[in-house]
Parts: sequence; C-alpha cells; structure tokens
Amino acid sequence: MNYSTLEKTGLRVSQLGFGCMRFVMGPNGQVDRSLAIPLLHRALEFGVNYFDTAVGYCNADSQRVLGEAFAQVPRDRLVLSTKNGFHEAPAEEWWSRLIESLTFLQTDHLDLYNFHGIGWDIFTRFLDGPDGKLKLMQKAKDQGLIRHICCSFHDSCDNLIKLIDTGVFDVITIQYNLLYRDLEKGLDRARETGTGIVVMGPVGGGRLGVDSDKIRKLTGNAAQSTPEAALRFVLANPGVNVALSGMSTTAMLEENVRITSRPPFTAAEIQSLQGEINRVKSSAGVYCTACGYCLPCPFGVDIPENFRVYNEHLVYGLTEQDLKAYSQIVHRAGDCAECGACLAKCPQKIPIPAMLRKIMATLDPQAGPLAATLTPHSALAADLLQTRLTLKNLEAEPAHPEIKIHLEQGASIANAPVDFGVLAPQGSSSGLLKIRLPDGIGSLDGTLEARAENRSAEIPFSRPFLIIPRGTPRRHRPQLTPADFNGSEAVFNANKYEILLHSDEERLHIEFDIQSPLEGLAHPPNLNGAVMELYVDLRLPPKLGAPGYEDGVEQFFLYLGDDTVKSKSDRSYDLTYRRIPTAAGIRLQISLPFANFRPPGSPLPKAIGLDCMFQVCNAAGQNIGHPTYGRRQGLWSNPKLFNRAFLV
Ligand code: SF4
Ligand code: SF4
Repeated sequence: MNYSTLEKTGLRVSQLGFGCMRFVMGPNGQVDRSLAIPLLHRALEFGVNYFDTAVGYCNADSQRVLGEAFAQVPRDRLVLSTKNGFHEAPAEEWWSRLIESLTFLQTDHLDLYNFHGIGWDIFTRFLDGPDGKLKLMQKAKDQGLIRHICCSFHDSCDNLIKLIDTGVFDVITIQYNLLYRDLEKGLDRARETGTGIVVMGPVGGGRLGVDSDKIRKLTGNAAQSTPEAALRFVLANPGVNVALSGMSTTAMLEENVRITSRPPFTAAEIQSLQGEINRVKSSAGVYCTACGYCLPCPFGVDIPENFRVYNEHLVYGLTEQDLKAYSQIVHRAGDCAECGACLAKCPQKIPIPAMLRKIMATLDPQAGPLAATLTPHSALAADLLQTRLTLKNLEAEPAHPEIKIHLEQGASIANAPVDFGVLAPQGSSSGLLKIRLPDGIGSLDGTLEARAENRSAEIPFSRPFLIIPRGTPRRHRPQLTPADFNGSEAVFNANKYEILLHSDEERLHIEFDIQSPLEGLAHPPNLNGAVMELYVDLRLPPKLGAPGYEDGVEQFFLYLGDDTVKSKSDRSYDLTYRRIPTAAGIRLQISLPFANFRPPGSPLPKAIGLDCMFQVCNAAGQNIGHPTYGRRQGLWSNPKLFNRAFLV
C-alpha cells in the first residue's frame, strides 16, 4: 500500500481510501454485517487506514457498521472521516449529529469532520459569519471531539479556490476523474497551500468501472483495465492524497489494492494520454468549448451536454455507459426541432442541428432510419397549441416521407398536414402544426408514424406543456407513473394532482390541487415533511430557460404543514400563499406579481419557465415519492432547463 501525508494534519493515510457508502444491504434495509465487517477487517490487513462515511450512507447504517467492525482496533490505526450535512438546521440538531456520529463510530474523536457537500454559497450563508456552523466546528475541535475541520465539495473550480484560500479547511473531498477534470486548477492551489485532497468518484461513479479498448490504447497499454487507468490517473496528480473507492466485495478490494500499490502514471505518461485525448477529440469529435452561447435553445435542447457525452463516447469508447449517459440527458439531441436559432450564436461555427442528428444516430438506440419530433412552440388560445413538427432523415439516401400523427387524450390536429417534400441524405424539414386540446391535459402524447420508400419508423412522444390564459384558469394533469412514487402502484393510484394556471395584468396565479389520502396529507400535524417545490423562470428572452439562478429565476418551497414559503435565494417576494383543505386532500394557491421579477410596466412575456416537484412523505416524514411536472429525470436538484408555460 502507498501512503501520503495530509500536510496540514500530519496524518499518514493510505492512498486507497475506503468509501463506506456501497456496502451490500440486507433484506431488512440494513447493511449485511456478515459481508461488510470481514471486508473492513481485510482492508485494514491490506494497510488501508482511511475510512470515509457520512450520516446518511447506507440508510444511515454505515457509521454503525464501521463502529462495530473497529470497536477492538487500536484507534491510532484508523483515520476516520465522517460528514454533517445539517447546515441549515438549528445548532442543537447539528451538534446532536456530531454526538451521534461519535456514538455510532464508537470513538471519542473524529479525525476529519466534514461539512457535507458544500459550495461557496452554503459556506457564506450557513457556515461563515457570527451564527455560522463554523463556530460549532471550532467548539468541537476545542473540546477534542474532532481533530480537523474539513468539507466535501460540489461547486465550480473558482469557488474551490476561494474555499481553499479561506484557510479554514485542512482537507477537502472533491470529485475528480478522467472524465471530470474541471477542478484541476483547484488541485494546484490545494498543493500550494498544503490543503489535503481526497477524491471521491475516481472511477466516475462507475462509468470507468467497465472495460474499454480505447482507454487502454490511450494509456499506451500502461494500464491493464479501465479502473486501473482511472485510479492511476487520479493518484498521478500531485495535489491528490487519497482516492476513495466505494467497495462492496473482497474482489473489488483486492483489485484496488493491486492497482494502488503500483506507481501512479508518470508525468510523461499523463502528457501522452492528454495528447492522445486531444487528438481524438479534434479529429473525430465536436470542438465544443461548453461556452453556452448557443443556449437557451427555444426547444430546450441541452446542446453542450449532448456534445460532451458524444465526445466522451468517441474518446473513451465506454459504449454501454455512454448510451446510459445520453439517455439521462434531460433534453437530448432528438428534441432538436431544427429551428436553426443556435447556429449564428456558436463561435466555433459548429453545425449544431446536423451534429445533433449524428449524435442521435450514434447514441439513441431508438433512432431508426427516420426520426421525428413534435414540440410545443407557443399557445394561440387556451385550447390551441402551436407545435413544430420536424422530420429527420438519419440515413445516407434521400427520402420522400409521409407522416401520420396519432394523438392521445382527445387532442386533435387543427390545420392541414405538413408536406415535407424530399429530405436530403441526413437532412431535415419542419412545419408548424396547430393542435386542439381538451381541458385538463398537460402533456401531448402519441405516436409519429413516418414512412419513406422501404423505410419506416414509429416514434412515441410525450411532451409536457402548460398554458396560462388571461382570466379563466386552465387545468393541467401531469402524466405520472408508479415510478414517480418509488415504484409503488398503490401510492400512485392513491395520489393525483392537477395544476391550474391563469394570469391577470399584475399577477401569475398557480394552484395545485393535490388529491391524496396519505395519512401525512390528511392530518395536518403530520404534514411537516411534505413540500411542493415550484420553479419559476420569468427572465426575458434570450435568457429564458438558460441555466442558473439570476434575477427572474426562483425556486420556492411551499410547505404543506404551515403557511411557510421559502425561496432558494432568500429574497422577499410580494406573494400570497394559501392552503385549503379539501375532501380529497389539499389545495395550494400561490400568486406571484410579475413586478417582482420584471421591471414594472414591462409587457407580459409570451412564455415563462415553470416546473414543480412534489415530495410526498408518509406520516413519519419519510419521502415516498416525488411526482414531477414534466416527467423529466434529474429533478432532485434544480431543473437546468425549465418547461415552458405559454401565456395567452
Ligand atoms: S436548431 Fe435545434 S438545437 Fe439549435 S436552437 Fe433550434 S431546436 Fe435548438
Ligand atoms: S456555442 Fe458552440 S461551442 Fe459554445 S456551447 Fe454551444 S455548441 Fe458548444
């Protein structure tokens, strides 16, 4: 085992750290001790001495298991690191987590105590300052309960450098791997200042856990496997002290010990690896710098993210992982409606729609010879949606296509069919289509059937939309599935919600009608864990839909247990919030003045961004579902691109 010294702490730590978040779980929802405890003992025998855990890992059982495994081990053989994520909680609660960690870990002190998952924003708002949690950290250190103040970090490189330069932290745990190198300048700064760096996710959350010929070749066959290349790459950075691996089997442990006992890549090997990566990117990939100038796409396509995944596929050839990564992009290449609005904005002159077609043909397993999209574009009336219908030829032959559109839920086409003419090889064509909507539907669902010569494709689609009429509210029912309720058919059947929207000159009115017999919703004293998250983007085009929290973008938390509304930014708003108990559940009414987001008297926008997510909790406050308007993935955190709500 190779060791490294965490300079500010003087601690000698194994370069392979044991991440205690992936133990095998038993059927009772707790860690299977019969596997985890021998595994931890074996790691100690191999010389691993760095163990990283946190309050919530493994259903909040990870710390207990570590405590049980090491109860009889001399304390100086271990470096224990755990985390406290209760940044916003009252001081007593934060402190009780610390005492709980000491109890569970069966120790009188923690070597490294981390603020869990912070960035600059959390640091300045909740940790620093007269009432910040740093005071508690210092108190714990003064009392000998912790030895070193540390944090785990998720934010930009500039903010990592700012955090290092505060001088507060002895060790910082960050994400870093072959696929994610954004924080490299921060690693340099950590090295200059003697700040220890522990790397989580050295194998890219498992993406580098599979084999790839391309990666072996990139390393000039210096590594025998992708995980070996990944770990030796991370440890080659002189700013890195420990690479954590979440291990669950002895085989994984033995393989990691073998790899980390080898020397990391040399500087020359890293240089040649970098040269090879650049060569592949510039010869075959898309030279996208992720500057974001092309955003927002009026149809929501996350252009740089599609290019990033495609480039990674070309460079690293992790095909199975790349297909998965592509499928997890919220707005994929297939959503491109070929409007051309991005073309002039790209400084690299990338032919964006054509490249997106190529990406679709490469990474979308559902893409056939022909692809088609039907995308909401604007509202002409409360019951009339203007959409853009686009047909793409993904093959090298010209096509003369016919298209049939099957709409569900009573939606119907209100104008003449679009004539696509002849599609050039790998070309595309679009037209506008008006769709008449019955009241209540909140998603355009159906199938596009495209035929050309001897080729055909059937493309199912599901497009959430919202219309905000002046005057009478319009109802929207989101398309939910049992997956929105942790897979439970029973909870799904018992929970419905609708969104009613309207506006007047001054205000936007949003109403959620939640029909749920859940005990947690039916009995107000138990509602404390239940919250509706509402995301509003009222910026002016061209910023509408672009990522980030700026003026005009806000996330509200509507609490179901009392009349509290919190905003993510902590700004104050002239909003009203009412909760009305109903026979079937609860109705939440919120109204927001446009003037809070836009200069007074400015004309109303044609579209705004609107999303909501409802966290369903049971009476014990445990989350048992998160139905989300728009059925998109990744909405546990802020939506990167908002659903458009059209004002008429
Ligand atoms: S061409 Fe495609 S990606 Fe570009 S702005 Fe239009 S819809 Fe978006
Ligand atoms: S403008 Fe061009 S280079 Fe910049 S993110 Fe968009 S596609 Fe990439």
